[in-house]
Amino acid sequence: MDAPTVSDVEYDKLFKELQELEKKYPEFKSANSPTNKVGGAAEKKFAQYKHKERLYSLDNTYSYYDLELWYDKLQKNYSLQEAPELVCELKIDGLAISLNYENSTFVLGATRGDGVVGENITNNLKTIKAIPSKITENIKSMEVRGEVFMPVDVFEKLNESQKANNAKIFANPRNAAAGSLRQLDAEITRERNLSMFAYYGRIDSDELSIKSHSEMLKFLKFQGFNVNPNYKVCKNVDEAIKYCKIWDKKRKNLDYATDGVVIKVNSFELQNEMGFTARAPRWATAYKFPPEEVSTVVEDIEVNVGRSGAVTPVAVLEPVFISGSTVQRATLHNFDEIKRLNINIGDRVLIKKAAEIIPKVICVTEHAEGVAKAFEPPVYCPSCGTKLVPVEGEVNLYCPNKNACPEQIKAKIEYWTSKDCMDMEGVGGNIVSKLVDCGMVKTPADLYKLSIDDLKKLNLVADKSSQNLYNAIQSSKNPTLARFINSLGIRHVGKEMSELLANKFLTLESLQKAGIDDILSIDGCGEKIAVSILDFFADSYNNDILNDLKSLGVVPKNVEDNRVSRILEGMTFVITGTLSDTRDKFSAIIKANGGKTASSVSKNTSYVLAGENPGSKYDKAQALGVKVINENEFRQMIGS
Ligand SMILES: [Zn+2]
Repeated sequence: MDAPTVSDVEYDKLFKELQELEKKYPEFKSANSPTNKVGGAAEKKFAQYKHKERLYSLDNTYSYYDLELWYDKLQKNYSLQEAPELVCELKIDGLAISLNYENSTFVLGATRGDGVVGENITNNLKTIKAIPSKITENIKSMEVRGEVFMPVDVFEKLNESQKANNAKIFANPRNAAAGSLRQLDAEITRERNLSMFAYYGRIDSDELSIKSHSEMLKFLKFQGFNVNPNYKVCKNVDEAIKYCKIWDKKRKNLDYATDGVVIKVNSFELQNEMGFTARAPRWATAYKFPPEEVSTVVEDIEVNVGRSGAVTPVAVLEPVFISGSTVQRATLHNFDEIKRLNINIGDRVLIKKAAEIIPKVICVTEHAEGVAKAFEPPVYCPSCGTKLVPVEGEVNLYCPNKNACPEQIKAKIEYWTSKDCMDMEGVGGNIVSKLVDCGMVKTPADLYKLSIDDLKKLNLVADKSSQNLYNAIQSSKNPTLARFINSLGIRHVGKEMSELLANKFLTLESLQKAGIDDILSIDGCGEKIAVSILDFFADSYNNDILNDLKSLGVVPKNVEDNRVSRILEGMTFVITGTLSDTRDKFSAIIKANGGKTASSVSKNTSYVLAGENPGSKYDKAQALGVKVINENEFRQMIGS
């Protein structure tokens, strides 16, 4: 959705940890593991396009030592006599795309998507000047890949005008490029002035005899593509590391964002020999630059009230330019963090914008002399003045005035309108804030009571957009049940849990009536979540809002029950060994008959369904006295 919730650094760290765990405990590796996948699935709004050849992701590293290891491993694994030549290129922080040329003419372009299927965005790509509509030479069929990006000055101008129009502010040039490229109206894409660097070409016949990546880059340039001029052929990994060091400094002067260096084995012959892992080529890796840090002064510490009532501190900073944008606020997480960092107003601090999301304060570099004012955690809510209360087992303080605290109401309603919830395009924080301030909106239900005239009178946006706002609100009335549950903002219930709840209870009514055991029977749902759900639906204020919504026609769609029987209800199966079809298929059959599956055998397992070569799960079932059945016995159970 072009709106990451964790930084790239965090993501990469977790990803690496997962890879290591999977290596150590292969029996727990899920078929859906992200280590098998390339990020991002295609969205529905564009036609899907199946790539002729898969677009892989790249493994990446933050250390030179890891680069050396990668290089040594290549030499050893492929018994290379000579050190293989490498090509270093700047890793452009944009959106990967694939372009298809037939008879030298650009015919189709798509986003990477999940690497196998992307979105057909041909019309939008045609508006980008750096993409030639015709190439120089006569070539029957060719695929070119590259990175579409937004130059930094274009990005800054765009955000200025977005701000002036009360529209979405993009976190960084990459998100802006992605958002601009996936416009349904190609004219908007054209106005956004995107550019592209090409870095890969594949020709369906061998007649051109291009033997290396560096030759391919030259060839692409000759065909009229924009090839980044800063690439370098390196004799070995030492030269590559030198290149990374130089560009870590020099990149700050570039007019496009780069977040690292891509390092590839130059020879195509070697590349072919080395091949791919499940998600990335073995012959390439990316070195990511360390996140940028800058120093600034804490001018004030403000206190925010979130939709849960949690009160959290935010550092107001002397404006400072970092990773392509000006930053004025940084999160401090909680009051313990202020103590831990020993931050006072007036102190000079180091901030980091890891992967350019919300910057955070790393440490104090210089305490303000004399004038520094120690920060005292607030006693009363800064929004409504209610006395704050601690919650057992949590570091945050909470405002208990949950139904009347203006900041909480705003945060709740803003969440209600957001993309993963009711998805009201154009109804963002500013507009919600004004609606709450003028007293017309106190609950999510109030949004649906607003007429076009109300919206016009409030002077929120231009006349024409009042109609758009009205439409966005009214057209959101019948979401999927999962979205609706997510929108309610029940504590500890996020997007995924909402989906599990929707699939379990099928209708809002049966979720409202659910008992604790029903809820706890969902895999991954613990007591904390279950209690929170029960509390939510037991609350009379919440019930008033739900009734209000219903009477306004805000009704989620029920989940269709696709169970064919309930024969296996209450039973948990563990599948192991080789069966006549995939485990996923058997798992689907079990679910369709009301049963559940689990990945490991425990005393709660009803049956182990074992095929040939069942392995350790079979042994464990024996040890725990869990009944083991074969495929035939299973088929008899479900009468098939
Ligand atoms: Zn409050």
